[in-house]
Amino acid sequence: MTSFTAPKGTFDTLPPDSATFLAVRDALTAPLRRAGYGYIETPIFEDTALFARGVGESTDVVSKEMYTFTDRKERSLSLRPELTAGLMRAFIEHKLYSGQLPVKLYAVGSNFRYEQPQAGRYRHFTQVDMEALGVDDPALDAEVVALAVAGFRELGLTDFDLLMTSLGDAECRPQYREKLQSFLAGLDLDEETRRRAEINPLRVLDDKRPDVAAQLAEAPLMVDHLCDPCQRHYDEVRQYLTDLGVEWQEAPRLVRGLDYYTKTTFEFVHNGLGAQSAIGGGGRYDGLSKQLGGPDVSGIGYAVGVDRTLLALRAEGLVGDAPSRVAAFVVPLGDAARRRGLALVTELRNAGVPADFAFGGKGLKGAMKAADRSGARYAVVLGERDLADGTAQLKDLTTAEQRAVPLTDLARTVKELLS
Ligand code: AMP
Repeated sequence: MTSFTAPKGTFDTLPPDSATFLAVRDALTAPLRRAGYGYIETPIFEDTALFARGVGESTDVVSKEMYTFTDRKERSLSLRPELTAGLMRAFIEHKLYSGQLPVKLYAVGSNFRYEQPQAGRYRHFTQVDMEALGVDDPALDAEVVALAVAGFRELGLTDFDLLMTSLGDAECRPQYREKLQSFLAGLDLDEETRRRAEINPLRVLDDKRPDVAAQLAEAPLMVDHLCDPCQRHYDEVRQYLTDLGVEWQEAPRLVRGLDYYTKTTFEFVHNGLGAQSAIGGGGRYDGLSKQLGGPDVSGIGYAVGVDRTLLALRAEGLVGDAPSRVAAFVVPLGDAARRRGLALVTELRNAGVPADFAFGGKGLKGAMKAADRSGARYAVVLGERDLADGTAQLKDLTTAEQRAVPLTDLARTVKELLS
């Protein structure tokens, strides 16, 4: 029979590497918990229309990359390609806006996009996502950006840059959009780019092809056409970031793959990752709640790619040896010792010592090999004679020193030795 492999563009995260994955996830979310963000869990699939309306019908994410299916009652559902739309849906559905503002939420979870797989770009990937909803305050923008930086710093990352710009709002962006469109209309562009200029002219600015990029050198930029409130907002965000010691680079051509951004918009790029260098990004999305049928309240947030952050850690040589699976490994010799030994494992674990047991009835040699492989610092060898004496042999696997310890003291002794 043929066997199965993980679907194209997906991968398994196996122990011991998975410990690093969990550590990254926890480090990225630790600053959020310290800042009062609460964990939210939403479904992995939602109404397709939520993403079409929220993320934007014309985006690649929605138009080309969603895993969409109909259920048995002909409802169109999609696996989530990002987390913000679902969080916003929950914020509206549960009227979280009627409580204390801002509502601070974070989530960690799987996302699905039918992309062309390459290093750092997958069809199933994990994001840490956070949103601060209901308050339009430049200080909040600065807090949000600073929390992302804190997450990266928590991991020891240094070789990354923060790119930032303002995308304006419903007041100044339409006017700018027209200016940009008339500028683009005068250029020598291919048919597809022309079409893009019609639907989403800002995205044309991001075109990296040299002949197009050269023509775009003189293109009008949003940051030069901000209305007064947007300009003030952006100036204040930058002032707060300076106060917080956060460095950034102005990126007036920054465009993100999702349509909902307004005002402050940012991206983190890592310098050791090659083509897929974005490790996170986000911004303000003041129209999103209203667009999804909620009240007209603002929001800001970001998503950090856990998988890419892990690649960034590797690129900076920050992934050390995988931690040991357990600290103690119990090796019983004989049936009576097996029974006492299994109880001993539980005693060790209850004392807070990660412990494992020589399952599978191995002989002494095989069991000691298993103890070594487990990465344990100590082997606890329990023979018939030890059992009769009420002791076990505690062997330090790094030095091969061995001594008898009373069974009643064993868990406490190992715990003390490890501390
Ligand atoms: P986005 O939701 O597109 O703004 O992406 C936010 C972050 O998620 C990016 O900066 C990446 O770190 C990560 N990300 C987005 N798409 C993928 C993907 N296909 N594979 C792996 N990571 C991704």
